[in-house]
Amino acid sequence: MKAHSIQTPVKNITDREALMRLKRCAACGNPFNLGDTVVLACGGWEGPPKWIHEENVPHSHQH
Ligand SMILES: [Zn+2]
Repeated sequence: MKAHSIQTPVKNITDREALMRLKRCAACGNPFNLGDTVVLACGGWEGPPKWIHEENVPHSHQH
């Protein structure tokens, strides 16, 4: 699923509370792990921006 980042700070998951709140990646569908870097992004899903792995953000289209 395509996604692109919006102007939101990158977040690093450092605790279990954040892990449970974020649940899983909207881009690749895999659960997050402690230590993952995630970004809030818009994509092919409906509704508000969601958290995805930073590595799932295509960097080639950023300005
Ligand atoms: Zn992902």
